[in-house]
Amino acid sequence: MTTRHENHAVVVGAGIAGLLAARALSDHVAHVTILERTRVDDAVGAAPTAAGLWPACTLTPPTLALLEARMPGLAGDLLRAGAVPVARDGAPSNAYRPVDHPATLALTERLVLDTVRRRLLHDHPNVSVHDGVHAERALLTGRRITGVSAAGAAMNADLVVDATGRGAQLLASAIEDGVEAPTATSVVLSMDYRTRIFARSATAVAMASTARDARGGRVATLAPIEGDRWAVTLGTWPARTAPTTPAGFSAAIETLGDPALAMVVDGCEPRSSLGHATLARTRLRRPHLSTTPLDGLVLVGDSLCTLDPLAGVSVRSASLQAHMLAAALSQHAVVSPELTAAYHRWAGAAVERPWREGSGAATVASRPRAQAPARVARSLARLERSLAR
Ligand SMILES: Cc1cc2nc3c(=O)[nH]c(=O)nc-3n(C[C@H](O)[C@H](O)[C@H](O)COP(=O)(O)OP(=O)(O)OC[C@H]3O[C@@H](n4cnc5c(N)ncnc54)[C@H](O)[C@@H]3O)c2cc1C
Repeated sequence: MTTRHENHAVVVGAGIAGLLAARALSDHVAHVTILERTRVDDAVGAAPTAAGLWPACTLTPPTLALLEARMPGLAGDLLRAGAVPVARDGAPSNAYRPVDHPATLALTERLVLDTVRRRLLHDHPNVSVHDGVHAERALLTGRRITGVSAAGAAMNADLVVDATGRGAQLLASAIEDGVEAPTATSVVLSMDYRTRIFARSATAVAMASTARDARGGRVATLAPIEGDRWAVTLGTWPARTAPTTPAGFSAAIETLGDPALAMVVDGCEPRSSLGHATLARTRLRRPHLSTTPLDGLVLVGDSLCTLDPLAGVSVRSASLQAHMLAAALSQHAVVSPELTAAYHRWAGAAVERPWREGSGAATVASRPRAQAPARVARSLARLERSLAR
């Protein structure tokens, strides 16, 4: 399909999914406008945890390859910005693992968003970001979404992208206005995530570790992040068993018996209070299965499918969705119901299997939850191999 230079797309949300969708759109429409309710000097993109911490993020080689395919040079940018190369070689849990080769990058999500945003704006002048703009509703003309309302004014668009995260706010407003709610499956996870940042000596070996106690419903990760810091995250399920004080957090980490994690929570100077995030349920929406599929509105990232954060595959899933959006845009006109149907079908296929396996949606009762992240990662890797063929 040839590029339609007269078209305008609006992306609502400057989290990783919104930024990558904007990159895909930049090749196919004349103007891409990103609306982000937060301000860049407060926070770039996705909201930090309740205590103002940015989640630590690990980007594995397949994820970096997908990102590089959309934004050549990005991995180098991330390294120069302070991302720490670590090895995640699948060694057994509870092992102290010094790492010495740049296989995976560890960093905060904020650094990912800053770096991706900078490269997007630098290389694609037809993309603009407006911070501090809250999009209130999707605008409907007949059955098609034709724009958004923001700050009391209407902004018309040939395509609207809902990248608002778990709440899928634009979709929710469209449903209130009579659009058919997409088929969705949700699974209760009742996960609680607590993160604390610790000082790391600049000369300390970069190590990453994961320790699990499936029976006790706990998993902890240690990641070296930019600024010579460690990020320690503890996931607990059910959520009500989460420790709520720094001392309780350290005690819970110690009982996992991982020497690297224990060394950090016991011996390193804390640099933050406890950050807090939750995931009550995970949901996969399938708009292409509705009787009247969505027209003019594309769902990306958590608004299409939420994955357990500790699986570490959300950025990869957002990258895959951006690939699917680019593929749909290369085959269908921007203003056509076929575009949104094709995108949702392909993006849904890309995330459905890992989501089903990761969430335990297939056999919720019998799956041990702690194995889910590994299954998600394996499934996504399989999917990427098949896409690469
Ligand atoms: C503790 C923790 C650890 C994690 N670790 C990893 C990891 O290792 N690897 C990984 O890949 N992922 C990780 N994640 C998951 C990752 O943070 C999210 O899944 C991912 O950011 C979702 O991206 P998104 O762009 O879909 O949504 P979000 O990041 O939620 O972004 C949505 C954006 O939309 C904006 N917005 C919402 N409504 C409006 C509106 N009405 N108008 C304008 N703007 C709006 C919000 O301000 C926000 O910036 C982790 C998450 C947590 C909590």
